[in-house]
Amino acid sequence: MITRSVSELSQALASREISSVELTQLYLERIARHNPQINAFITVAPEKSLAQAKAADALRAAGQATPLTGIPLAQKDIFCTKGWLTTCGSRMLGNFVSPYDAKVIEQFNAAGAVILGKTNMDEFAMGSSNETSYYGAVKNPWDLSRVPGGSSGGSAAAVAALLAPAATGTDTGGSIRQPAALCNLTGLKPTYGVVSRYGMIAFASSLDQAGPMAHSAQDCALLLNTMAGFDERDSTSLDRPPEDYSRELSTNAGGKPLAGLRIGLPREFFGEAERSGCSPEVMQLVDAAIAQYRELGAELVDISLPNMKLSVPAYYVIAPAEASSNLSRFDGVRYGYRAPDYDDLNDMYAKSRAQGFGAEVKRRILIGAYVLSHGYYDAYYLQAQRIRRLIANDFVAAFKVCDVILGPTSPSTAFKLGERAADPVQMYLSDIYTIAVNLAGLPGMSIPCGFASGLPAGLQLIGDYFSEAKLLNVAHRYQQASTWHQQRPQAVD
Ligand code: GLN
Repeated sequence: MITRSVSELSQALASREISSVELTQLYLERIARHNPQINAFITVAPEKSLAQAKAADALRAAGQATPLTGIPLAQKDIFCTKGWLTTCGSRMLGNFVSPYDAKVIEQFNAAGAVILGKTNMDEFAMGSSNETSYYGAVKNPWDLSRVPGGSSGGSAAAVAALLAPAATGTDTGGSIRQPAALCNLTGLKPTYGVVSRYGMIAFASSLDQAGPMAHSAQDCALLLNTMAGFDERDSTSLDRPPEDYSRELSTNAGGKPLAGLRIGLPREFFGEAERSGCSPEVMQLVDAAIAQYRELGAELVDISLPNMKLSVPAYYVIAPAEASSNLSRFDGVRYGYRAPDYDDLNDMYAKSRAQGFGAEVKRRILIGAYVLSHGYYDAYYLQAQRIRRLIANDFVAAFKVCDVILGPTSPSTAFKLGERAADPVQMYLSDIYTIAVNLAGLPGMSIPCGFASGLPAGLQLIGDYFSEAKLLNVAHRYQQASTWHQQRPQAVD
């Protein structure tokens, strides 16, 4: 049962092969067995999950089931979840039981899905390895001495270790796609504004976007159907007609299902010299995927994203700037961590923040406050915003000559725990292929494309605004012709 996809589980529930209570129990047992080692979940509350499962079974009995009714899902601990501890991976929120649900959680609840637990993550989603979590590092189920990627590392490890059939993640600079790549999953970051950010603890508001992580594009489509939608409580939520994101997946398109599709290959990824930025083993797998896409009927187009190289520096000005503002709310006054001993109000703020935040979060707050300060704003923040526009314009030009852009997701496979923790720049470069997509607000996916020395590698697909259905289809056709996404780690039985 646990190796089945979300859609297969949905069928099993519909045919009464299994009840949601039984299914939820199955996953809770696996979590109890494997989580102490993997550390994918920060919080599990079996009685809450089972109560939801029971309600889902009742809904189904009453003939009111949706495709996700009774499906247990892992929720990233960045989503405020009513009655659940919601830590965002930080000591600062170590005692925060949310009094309300994020929009994403509301939507899953309304669909009758079951919350299996809250997943571990880099503190306030700042990181690429899950090592900045106050609740300890997460282990990659493919190799327990390696990182699962981040910041949605707990979600990725949970799904890869079959502790949940699918999960939510959030992606500010790559945090869905990179852990998906490192754990052999399919992950989708939607167009900015498609999924509401209400109740999703803010890191960099102009970049943050939630999305699904699962084994296949098909399952991601199912989840996105529930996650997407307008929300007036998020001022950047987009009011668009609802879409069925799986609409392109069911047609039988024959031997050349992608005939006519133009795939753009950026010179900045694939040029002779530029290739050296990526591990040769990963590049080889990406090249093989390109060949496969050709067989599926796609046509390859050379494109250029000339400002791509500026994306990491621009991001590390803009994201910390927004973070320094967003995180100013954590002051130890109304909720969250408060230092036990202090002299006066200012000392209380200072000590609460000094003790409540970890090193990476402090680094970002300092950088952010600096680049926004008088005298430096023009030199850093404003310049970064201008670069952001140039990067977005590069994509606009590229999508005039291609439908989808392809490249690696991550320049390497999963690295060793501790290997990059002491070198922030090395860590920041983990997102070299993903960050531009957030700066432009575009949708992006990562799908499994093979193994290098036994570790999974990810292929990135980037689409034009609102092309999620197309991206999912492009991913799905590859998954119909390959078995990489069906491989499961040996280490966790
Ligand atoms: N790794 C990037 C960072 O540390 C992106 C994180 C994310 O997407 N949340 O900021």
